[in-house]
Amino acid sequence: MMLRPRSVRGRLALWHAGVLTLIVCAFSGAVYALVRAQLLRDLDARLARDLATIERTYREADYDLAEVETRAGVELFEVTSAGRVLYRTAAWTRIGLDRAALTEAGPATWSSPHGHSYRMETRSWHELRIAVATDEALTRGALGRLALILALAIPCAAIVALAGGYLLAGRVLAPVGALADHARRITAEALDARLPVEDPRDEFGQLAGVFNDTLARLQDAFERLRRFTADASHELRTPLTAMRSVGEVALQNARDPAAYREVIGSMLEEVERLTRLVEGLLLLTRADTGRTHAAREVVDLGALATSAVEHLRVLAEEKGQELTAAAHSGVRARCDPALVRQGVVNLLDNAIKYTPQRGSIRVVVEVLPSGEPAVEVRDTGPGIAPAHLERIFERFYRVDADRARQAGGMGLGLAIARSVIAANGGRIEVESTVGNGSVFRMVLPAV
Ligand code: ADP
Repeated sequence: MMLRPRSVRGRLALWHAGVLTLIVCAFSGAVYALVRAQLLRDLDARLARDLATIERTYREADYDLAEVETRAGVELFEVTSAGRVLYRTAAWTRIGLDRAALTEAGPATWSSPHGHSYRMETRSWHELRIAVATDEALTRGALGRLALILALAIPCAAIVALAGGYLLAGRVLAPVGALADHARRITAEALDARLPVEDPRDEFGQLAGVFNDTLARLQDAFERLRRFTADASHELRTPLTAMRSVGEVALQNARDPAAYREVIGSMLEEVERLTRLVEGLLLLTRADTGRTHAAREVVDLGALATSAVEHLRVLAEEKGQELTAAAHSGVRARCDPALVRQGVVNLLDNAIKYTPQRGSIRVVVEVLPSGEPAVEVRDTGPGIAPAHLERIFERFYRVDADRARQAGGMGLGLAIARSVIAANGGRIEVESTVGNGSVFRMVLPAV
């Protein structure tokens, strides 16, 4: 089973210790190999020196090889000529070096039956052969001590690396713990809280920054949802209250059939309002969840706008308004005709609603200089102040709630128009100055 601690701190400490131990092992191995090679080189150099001394003595001191042993202190050597021993030190025989298989391939190690190791070298000149040896005990002792020191250093280094890594990881990861503590305290009721960002440039600062951005978006979404629920409940309550009071009054006083019919009629009006509200909400919810399926057809915008104008003409006539349509021929867009018609009807409905009696409304279908097809609804109504312009597309937002409600507005018309046009890949622009009317422009994707 692999050792895998649950905490990042533990894993970091283990990795740190593991890597450091590997480095120390590799370093120790290299040091041991280098020292061993150097010590053996020293031994071999000494053997070479002894060989040279013996050879020189043999040639210069008139074959008196005992001098080498007594004066030069070379204790282990043997000189033979054609297999006949010319000189052999006493130690050579005692140790049993004469039984060692001598090679001339270079210095080699020979182990005696008693477990001692000797470094040997042999050299021949014609029939003369000189063999020299030296005890490896000192070298081996030094190497053994070095190996012991290195072997003890490895576990010590591992333990120190583990402890150091654990401490270091603890220090480095401390901000994560602090962030987690802070984040744990943030609930749906306290979404305005933010994580502390000590240094926005380091990794933890960036993490906290991203988390804070997400929190801000969540807070915004929660806030909108809360407002939306409150507004929707309010809108639903109004027709329900109206129906209830109309019904209660009708029940209390006995009336004739015509009066009851009137009561039912006004109740149906409220039901109609409720139905429109629920349908609008459903449409927006579907758009929010990306379930609005927009067909991609080539649509003649002129024909579509003219048909919407004719559909609503009776409302404009009721207010004595002049309603005209100017459609450049052949303006076409790639969109869903039903959704775009719904957008045009909403804009037109607003223009008729908010433009006073005998005002004028003009629908223009054209191609913008950018090449995009557009439907414009211009009116000579009251206009919209800049402060409201930014918000009129929000759900349930009305500039003058009471007046809008009286006019039959629920504050969803523009939100729905924008949502259906967006589902078609288009956008709605608005230009308006107070007292000078408004222009709502739907821009759609070209064919
Ligand atoms: P409503 O159902 O109240 O009309 P909308 O979303 O359609 O809701 O419009 C939001 C608000 O924008 C309206 O309450 C109104 O104040 C303002 N508005 C929309 N269209 C016009 C217009 N053509 N002229 C003036 N004000 C407008």
